[in-house]
Amino acid sequence: MIVPPPLSVQPPRYLTPFHPKQVPHFFTDVLIVGGGLAGLRTALAVDGRLSALVITKDGLWQSNSAQAQGGIASVLDPEDRIEDHVADTIEAGGPLCDREVVQRVVGEGPRRIQELIDWGTQFDKAGGRLVLGREGGHGRDRIAHALGDATGKEVMRAVIQQVRQTANLDVWENTFTIDLLTHEGLCRGALVWNGLHGKTLVWAKQTILATGGVGQIYRETTNPEVATGDGMALAFRAGAELRDMEFVQFHPTVLYIAGSSRHLITEAMRGEGAHLVDRYGRRFMPEYDPRAELAPRDVVSRSIVSQMEKTRHPNVYLDLTHLEPARVRARFPGIAAICEKFNLDITRDRIPVRPGAHYMMGGVTVDARGRTTVPGLWAAGEVTSSGLHGANRLASNSLLEALVYGASAGQGASREAVGIDDSFHAVPLENARSKPLDEPLDVGDIRNSLKSLMWRSMGVRREAEGLREALENVEHWCRYVLGLQFAAPAAWELQNMLTIAPLMIRAALARQESRGCHVRTDFPSRDDAQGNRHITFRGTG
Ligand SMILES: Cc1cc2nc3c(=O)[nH]c(=O)nc-3n(C[C@H](O)[C@H](O)[C@H](O)COP(=O)(O)OP(=O)(O)OC[C@H]3O[C@@H](n4cnc5c(N)ncnc54)[C@H](O)[C@@H]3O)c2cc1C
Repeated sequence: MIVPPPLSVQPPRYLTPFHPKQVPHFFTDVLIVGGGLAGLRTALAVDGRLSALVITKDGLWQSNSAQAQGGIASVLDPEDRIEDHVADTIEAGGPLCDREVVQRVVGEGPRRIQELIDWGTQFDKAGGRLVLGREGGHGRDRIAHALGDATGKEVMRAVIQQVRQTANLDVWENTFTIDLLTHEGLCRGALVWNGLHGKTLVWAKQTILATGGVGQIYRETTNPEVATGDGMALAFRAGAELRDMEFVQFHPTVLYIAGSSRHLITEAMRGEGAHLVDRYGRRFMPEYDPRAELAPRDVVSRSIVSQMEKTRHPNVYLDLTHLEPARVRARFPGIAAICEKFNLDITRDRIPVRPGAHYMMGGVTVDARGRTTVPGLWAAGEVTSSGLHGANRLASNSLLEALVYGASAGQGASREAVGIDDSFHAVPLENARSKPLDEPLDVGDIRNSLKSLMWRSMGVRREAEGLREALENVEHWCRYVLGLQFAAPAAWELQNMLTIAPLMIRAALARQESRGCHVRTDFPSRDDAQGNRHITFRGTG
């Protein structure tokens, strides 16, 4: 294990004051925080004899899952082999992958995809057979996709419908989870807030976190607004272990047009034969890697940044002009429509792109079934560090992880909850009001500054001096923001991001090598002595 320097600013145990006599109470058997694919798959695994409540801070359609484009990786072609998908996953993630976890997740993939089909998901087919795409790092065509490039939309449609039809499942949308409740070492539920009831104490026999990633901590990101790392921060405050927080995957090709939002341009486009070219129209990837455009994401992202520097241009371009136009339009209708708004025809014009933060490999440590280090608390999906992705996630393995870990965490939590008797009592927990906010603080300004700083210093390339300076700034903000008591989600999100940022920076400082998505320009080589060592943080709880 590599030991990072200790935190100099400790977050408070609870962000806001509460007292059991002053808030409503709600009792459920299983509480699931997060309504993306991991959360909903978890809910569908809960035993029908139990009640389960899913809480999402926005509508059910606002999640990374709903935005997923390329598809879900799995061994679905009779010529493909589980061993090959396992080998590709480990080739991308390196020794920080847990081989047993990889084997289990990959092995369970076909069954989990069949379940989605049984629930009504319409994957793209030709001649009655699934059409399988290829993405960077995969040795074979194994990506099941839907609606061309809108897989998440179709998968979430089917799964949301399934959840709505399941009698024991309840969903509270637009409800923000502020903190997990712990008592005598056990997770007992969560303190949540919404515009209708204000604060509510939700008591649960078992709690599952499925809150997704932290892309919004960066200025340039593919992630939607909800991805602010809340689950990682609230697990940390509840005492859970987090690990591998230095590993953030940057997607190489994010649309870069002034005035447009940062849409991801799916890797599948390169799988279909698109070239990356620089401002002069020169294809450059073969100079950086023999796999060219199909090299793993970290290699492509770094190559793009180098080429942008070489050509002194803020972006590079995806070029599909040599491909058959009708096929391009049929395969990528979503991206074609977005580009059209900006007067770009993807069959004739080059698409301007650059890297953006995309996926968080680190997170709450879970065991093979999804149990965290806090009894009574489980986790699934992007909020976790499960051992599947190691230092670099293989494309389209994350929806697969959400399905497999969602199923196992839901089943595991159910089994535990079935054995616990009902008790409709609140435990004696409170957080006294200590430091009310007496003058307005520009939360948006600090948030923007944090995002810019993280992009500059914790982005595609890092080095000690920039990281130390970033840490100093972030800890300065932490000193005056973390202890304040706010009353609205935007400020709680900022406090969560300020809880996570120092962990990410400290981990990046401690890992003095370049590995997977973590690139230190001052330590450009891999160091095998550090290669299989996790960097862990024990929560403050
Ligand atoms: C643009 C894009 C394209 C992608 N394409 C692919 C792809 O093709 N294939 C692939 O495998 N992966 C893809 N990914 C990654 C993949 O989508 C995610 O890793 C995966 O969907 C994560 O699922 P999740 O359920 O863990 O989290 P999410 O789907 O992000 O869900 C998180 C949920 O938690 C809720 N939440 C968060 N904080 C709180 C809080 N404080 N209180 C209450 N609720 C909260 C949110 O509201 C949301 O419902 C893509 C990601 C993006 C952004």
